[in-house]
Amino acid sequence: MGDEPSADACPTANGMPMLGLGTWQNADPEQCAKSVRTALETGYRHIDTAQVYDNEVAVGDGIERADVDREDVFLATKVWISNLAYEDVLETARESLDRLGVDYVDLLYVHWPARTYDPEETLAALDELYDEGLIENAGVSNFLPEQVADAVDRCDAPILANQVELHPLLPQLELRAACDERDVEVVAYSPLARGAVFDRPAIQDIAAKHDASEAQVSLAWLREKGVTAIPKATGEAHIRDNWESLFVDLDDEDVAAIDAIEETNREVDPGFAPWN
Ligand code: NAP
Repeated sequence: MGDEPSADACPTANGMPMLGLGTWQNADPEQCAKSVRTALETGYRHIDTAQVYDNEVAVGDGIERADVDREDVFLATKVWISNLAYEDVLETARESLDRLGVDYVDLLYVHWPARTYDPEETLAALDELYDEGLIENAGVSNFLPEQVADAVDRCDAPILANQVELHPLLPQLELRAACDERDVEVVAYSPLARGAVFDRPAIQDIAAKHDASEAQVSLAWLREKGVTAIPKATGEAHIRDNWESLFVDLDDEDVAAIDAIEETNREVDPGFAPWN
C-alpha cells in the first residue's frame, strides 16, 4: 500500500467514492491501463467500466499495476443490452470478472433497460450473483423513475445506484427526487457534458471567480447536489484537474447561478433509450 492519504479527500455515498474515473472510449489497452493507474495513484478509488467499452482487461491491468490494494478500489462494470437474459447475465458477468482479473466487483449495473432486458429474469440473475458473492451491489443505468422503483421492488440485492447522464445542462431533477425516495444513489455519467459545459458563460464566470477550471466547477456542483460523478479523463493533467475539484467549494450564489441555466442538452441519446 502506497502513501496515498489524498484518497481521504473524497466523500463516499453508501460506501461508494463520490468521484470516480470514467473509461468509455479509453480503449487503447496501454493508455487505458495507464489512465487507471494514474487515477488510483492520484487518490481515486472508484473506476467505472462496462462490457461494451472493450477495456475490462486494461482496467484490470491498471488496477494491478497501481500501488493500491484491490480491496480499496470500488470497481463497477455494466452488463450490455444483448446479455440481459438470465443465463447470459450469469455467464457474461463471470467473463467480466475474468477479464478484470478480480473475484468480485463492487457494483454491477444493468447498462440500459433495453433489448434483452426483462425485469424478472435480469434482476433475478443479479440476485444470484449477489448471493454467490460475485457482486457487492446491483445497479441500474439509464432507468426512468418507474423502472427504478420496479427494480428496487423486485431485487433482493441492494440497488445501490442509478447511473444517468447528469450535468449542469441536464440536472435531472425529477429522477434525482425519485431515486432519493428509494434510497438509490445517483451516479452522473458525462458529468462534463462531454465538454459542452466548458464554453457556457455561467460556468466560465464561476470558474474565473474560484480560479478553477470549468470541469472542476461542474464536478463541484454535482458534489453539492449529493451526486457521484465519474468524469472520463485520459492523461494525467485532466485526471488531476478533476480530482482537485474536491477542493473547490461553491457558494450558494454559484449553485443558484448554475441551477438557473435554462438550456438543456442531452449528449447520449440512442434510439433504444427508454425516454425515446
Ligand atoms: P465526460 O466525462 O463528460 O467528458 C469526457 C471528455 O472531457 C473527454 O473528452 C475528456 O478528455 C474531457 N475532459 C476530462 N476532464 C477534463 C478536464 N479537466 N479539462 C478538459 N477536458 C476534460 O464524458 P463521458 O466519457 O461520456 O462520461 C464519463 C463516463 O461516464 C464514461 O467514460 C463512462 O464511464 C460513463 N458513461 C456511462 C454511460 C451509461 O450509459 N451508463 C454513458 C456515457 C458515459 P480526455 O479523455 O482527453 O481527458
